[in-house]
Amino acid sequence: MAKATVCLSYDFDAVSTWLWSYDSWDEPTRHSRGVFGAEVGAPRLLDLHDKYDVPATWFIPGHTIESFPEICGEVWDRGGDVQHHGWSHTGPATFESEEDERADVERAVDNIVDLTGRKPTGYRSPAWDFSAHTLDILADIGIRWESSKMASDFTPHYVYGGWEAPPDGPYVRGEPTDIVELPVSWQRDDWPPLTFTWARPHRMGYVPEDSIFQRWYDQFDWMYENVDDGVFILTMHPQVMGQAHRIMRLEALVQHMSTKPDVEFKLMDTVAEEWREANPPA
Ligand SMILES: [Zn+2]
Repeated sequence: MAKATVCLSYDFDAVSTWLWSYDSWDEPTRHSRGVFGAEVGAPRLLDLHDKYDVPATWFIPGHTIESFPEICGEVWDRGGDVQHHGWSHTGPATFESEEDERADVERAVDNIVDLTGRKPTGYRSPAWDFSAHTLDILADIGIRWESSKMASDFTPHYVYGGWEAPPDGPYVRGEPTDIVELPVSWQRDDWPPLTFTWARPHRMGYVPEDSIFQRWYDQFDWMYENVDDGVFILTMHPQVMGQAHRIMRLEALVQHMSTKPDVEFKLMDTVAEEWREANPPA
């Protein structure tokens, strides 16, 4: 493996996040922020990836594929890997039943098959969390890796299932499944610090931009020096990162990473399969 691996990823939520995550069904200005992601942000990011010949993994809700099929097709045609991010961008634990969650997940599989001609192999939960049924559903649709957990920062591992958190006893972590985890972090996500909302869950979006990017430089540089076979996974959103004052900083970050010896940019699917081969499931 390279000394360090970088996976740039986009959660292409577009309008879906404003509908299901922020309950803004009749707020066209919020909808328009998602439209910006599809019509302005995503094309800019595709151009950046073309310019540096750097791959990206795109987690696209089925709602985005059905709403903005053209740009989603362009993501795929220009080398972006398209993976599963639910259909409606509903947090798995908030579905009313297992059947509802399964129907949402399966509809998104159909969208991705229609778009790419192949089934998704990777999944990222819209809420970065699971219901009690999510792992079974993912196994049933053939998911081989996922990217929503934070038990490590730069090192893949197998996802644990069968956890227990009793109020009157110790936490039980459960047992590893054969689904590979490619870990995420709220510290490597552009949405929480950079997205302004009037209400829940936070009023952010006016922090100094450089402080957020400096965090990512620091994390990458520390990983490069201290972690064997480290994988740096950055989670971004076209409606956030596609804005002018951010995409220029993302470009500088890509340049910085590229100047270090033995750094490889890879698709998350590639990283997951390479890690699985080196660490076969028990
Ligand atoms: Zn999302």
